Formats: sequence, C-alpha cells, structure tokens
Amino acid sequence: MVRRTFIKTAGLSAGAFWVRRPTHAAQSSGAGLPALLGGEKAYRGKWPTWPRWIPEHDEPGFLKCLRSGVWSRAATVTEFEKRWAEAVGAKRCLAVVNGTNALITALAQLGIGAGDEVILPPYTFIATAQAILMNGAIPVFCDIDPATYQIDPRRIESKITSRTRAILPVHILGLPADMAAITALAKKHGLYVVEDACQAWLAEVNGKKCGTLGNAGCYSFQNSKNLAIGEGGAIVSDDDAFMDRCHAYHNYGNAYGTAVGVVGAGTAMLGTKLRYTEYQAAMGLAQLKRLPAETALRHENAEYLKARLSKIPGIIPYRFSPGVTRAAFHLFPFRFDSEAFGGGLTRSTFLKALAAEGVPCSSGYTPLNKMPYVKHAFETKNFRRMYTAEELDYDAWLARNQCPENDRICQTLVWLPQHVLLADRAAMDRIADAVAKLHAHADKLAKA
Ligand SMILES: *Cc1c(COP(=O)(O)O)cnc(C)c1O
Repeated sequence: MVRRTFIKTAGLSAGAFWVRRPTHAAQSSGAGLPALLGGEKAYRGKWPTWPRWIPEHDEPGFLKCLRSGVWSRAATVTEFEKRWAEAVGAKRCLAVVNGTNALITALAQLGIGAGDEVILPPYTFIATAQAILMNGAIPVFCDIDPATYQIDPRRIESKITSRTRAILPVHILGLPADMAAITALAKKHGLYVVEDACQAWLAEVNGKKCGTLGNAGCYSFQNSKNLAIGEGGAIVSDDDAFMDRCHAYHNYGNAYGTAVGVVGAGTAMLGTKLRYTEYQAAMGLAQLKRLPAETALRHENAEYLKARLSKIPGIIPYRFSPGVTRAAFHLFPFRFDSEAFGGGLTRSTFLKALAAEGVPCSSGYTPLNKMPYVKHAFETKNFRRMYTAEELDYDAWLARNQCPENDRICQTLVWLPQHVLLADRAAMDRIADAVAKLHAHADKLAKA
C-alpha cells in the first residue's frame, strides 16, 4: 500500500519516465528497475525461517523431558554441557541462564571487581559492557579494525594501565578476533582473556574453536542466535578450579568440586542462581545436532556472496582476522560507501531499497561507548563507594573512550541476518543481483 502510494507520487516527478513494467527476461536476471521504484523484486522466494524446530527430530527428547517431571537441573543439563564442551574442544562447560550471565560469572570468578579495568571493543552487544560494570569494574573501550570490525590489537597496548586485569575480545558477527595478537599481549602484561563468543559458535582460529582460545569463553543461546534455545548460555574453560568456582556461584554459592570451603560446612561462597533447566538442555541437544552442518553452510554461502559483492563498486565486505579457518556468521556484514552509489545514496535508503528487493537487512549497532548506561553506573551507590569522585568523572571517562573507527563503521555497515545464509546458492546470486541493480540505479534512488 505504502509502495503503491510512493510510485504514484513518484509518477508526478521526472522519475516517472523510468517507471515501467519490467520484461520477463528482466525479472529473471534481476535487471530492470529497483523494486522501490516499481520494478520487480530480485528475490521472490522464501527465506529459511529461524529458529528451526523439526518436530520429528526435536520433539522426542524434549517431550520425554517434559513428561518426566524433572525440570530443574539434572542429567540432561549435564549431558548438554558434555556435548558443548566436546563440540568446541574444551575440558569443561557450565550451562547458565544466558550469555550475559555467562560473562558476569566468568569475570567474577576471575576475581575481577572494584578498581579493575577490562578492555573491550565498542562494536558489540550491550551485554559485553554491562558484564564488566555489573562486577564493579570499569570498561575501557579500544577501537576496532575497520576491515574486520573486531578489537584492533594494535591499539590495545596504549589502553593498558596498572589497573587493567583482562581483555574481553568479542568475536562480533561471528567473525573471530585476532586472537594470536590478543593472547600474546595478555601474556606479556599478565592479563586474563575472556572471550565473548556469544555470536561465534563453532567459529575457528587455526582450527581451534572460539571460546577456547583464552582463559574462559562465553556463549549465548538466545532465540536469534545460531544455536537457538530461547534463552541460554554457557561458560567453557580448561581450568578446573575456575570452573568449580563458576559452578558454585551459579548455584547459590554451594560448594562444588575442589573450589570452595569444606563440603558439609554449608554454603561457602558468595553466589547467585543461574541454573539451566532440563527442557532448555533438551532443546539445545536437538539444535546442536544441526549446528555443524548449518555452520559450514553459512560459511560457504558467505564466502560465495562476498566474492560476488566485492565486484560491486561501493560494497566492501568483511575481511577475516589472521588465522581464521571458519566464521560462524551470526550476521553477514559489508560496508556501504554512499559516494560510490550515485554520489550520495544514503545507507537508510539503500537498506529500504534492498529490503524492497526481498533481502532482509539492517544497519546494526550504534556506538556502545556513548550510551548513558555508563554514566548511570557511575552514579550508583555501589560505584560511589568503590571509586573516588575523580575516578568517576564521566566526561573524562568519555573523552578517554572515543573510538572514531567504530563511529564510522556504525554509520556505514550493513548486516544481512544469518538465516539468509541457510538458503541455496541461487538465493545468494539473487542477493548479489539485487545489490548490483541498486548500484546501477543509485542516482535515481538517491533522488527518489
Ligand atoms: C547475545 C549476546 C550476548 C548476551 O547473550 P544473552 O544470552 O542475550 O544474554 C553477549 N554478547 C554478545 C556479543 C551477544 O551477541
């Protein structure tokens, strides 16, 4: 309805000359006018839906769990932890309620708290920064590499102070960060590395899975994620004492394994409750069976699409960090250069036009280092007890945490959602056709 009105209005302008029905040949080759200007959509098929639920495959284990009446943490959660640890090649895994609390728990059990600084990239989901603040530590934003969108290891060293305790790289969009450089810096300065692998299930650097490259790795299984359980998270590590502390913390501080106090002496440490349920674990076990094949398909389709899009002027797809052998592609990213599109087509019009072609897309994150939550944290009672007024000078913090590369990426990146990468090769071609068509008609789109 909106589109029809738009075309009518456009019909009164000079652009009307171009509004004509495309020929059949034009439809199938994706040529002709952009759909936003009245042409045919480049992609008229259906995209795979997400999340996937395949009754005959997914329901037997889930229903068995429901009918058992054992819904609180028991053998199914333990089984899921075992399978996830195997899938990523970690010694131990603890399932927790979500990725946010996986990060909070990991930082807390590495002893990170008041007076500490944790270095993170600004191009990430809000939970990464909140996990640092929730432990009473100060987030220190380190700008990104605009080609990979990941924390730029060349900029980390200048962010390290006597208070720095950890680096928190995020494998954002499912593309691995430069872990060799990051772990070398951490070693040199005696820092922990906690990986936010909440978008990087089964992604790899030199054949080793993201989440197992530092001291601890955290994952999310939220509804939109590539391993979708509605809500869910996990921590992995090879450090038994650390994992025992995480387990105790996630279970009211009750002693677990070797970590805490004398068994039988009562609850031994500060803790909360973050336990996973049996039915979540049953869902996860079903989804996990499909994850390796889905991950391989996303990677193949992404690399194919990247090769095609790279040929279109003004489209600059992602670049991998050194050593990446597989990415998880929670999102497919490329930079949009407005100048190469009719000398100034805006990203927002490009996104509208691409969506009109039948390709789901979005503009992604806004700068995380500039949102009001840090100021609010600094104004809380706890922070005012933990830090001096000078340490909580928000304007000074903000000035130290500027990230201009990230600002530019936030203004120029385009995301395609992961489920489009589960379609077939022909669908990837239609995406590339759509973008090429928008490029060919960029000047008309810019005027529309
Ligand atoms: C999803 C996500 C989280 C948080 O996970 P939840 O399960 O939603 O709590 C943390 N970091 C990143 C990068 C994420 O994408």
